[in-house]
Amino acid sequence: MKTIGLIGGMSWESSKLYYELINQKVKSKLGGFHSCKSILYTVDFEEIHRLQGEGDWDSLNKIMVNAAQSLEKAGAEIILICANTMHLCSEAIINNVSIPLLHIAEATGQAIVDKGVKKVALLGTKFTMEKDFYKELLTNKYNVEVLIPTATERDYIHEIIYGELVHGKFETTAREGYKEIISNLQKKGAEGVILGCTEIPLLISPNDVTIPTFNTTKIHAEQAVEWALLGERVLVNK
Ligand code: GLU
Repeated sequence: MKTIGLIGGMSWESSKLYYELINQKVKSKLGGFHSCKSILYTVDFEEIHRLQGEGDWDSLNKIMVNAAQSLEKAGAEIILICANTMHLCSEAIINNVSIPLLHIAEATGQAIVDKGVKKVALLGTKFTMEKDFYKELLTNKYNVEVLIPTATERDYIHEIIYGELVHGKFETTAREGYKEIISNLQKKGAEGVILGCTEIPLLISPNDVTIPTFNTTKIHAEQAVEWALLGERVLVNK
């Protein structure tokens, strides 16, 4: 088994989910007393959140590269950024470590293709929904059409993420709000929905909606285990 390096703390609510998922997957594959070989580097999300707000991606790149290099030095053999948004720093990481990075949008793109979905809704932070890094990868590499919510809906989704989800608050009102947005996107032709923020799967489950959900946290964590155990379906960009 290879050792998975996790950059977590963005937020720790979803990092603990990653930790649970990678261990559950290893246990289900290998049985016995097996657990996942992993190293977790946790950043201080207060600093990350402030720099995101200031648009200081140079400083964010430095923090992410430092985390990835620390993981590499500690013995990690693959890097996972435990968030969708912070994949805005994936290029900087790829250029500054010699181990591969498993990109969350690549893992998700593959899962969407496997499911035969051609038009998919994307829910996440405004960075993820509005910037090109995520949508372009899905469209250019996986030939998937990506629908994003309206500006008002994007504001709502973003505010719930930073006002509630990353603080461990998962309320019925927010769940109903998200369900309504997903239903609006479904009316516009979405055949599936990407839960493109690693805390959203803690709010929305497949039973809440009538189209397939793509749980990016689970997809990412499980693909990493596949790689660590079998070296198969390696979705890395190195
Ligand atoms: N965990 C979230 C994501 O997957 C948002 C937190 C962040 O800003 O990184 O995008």
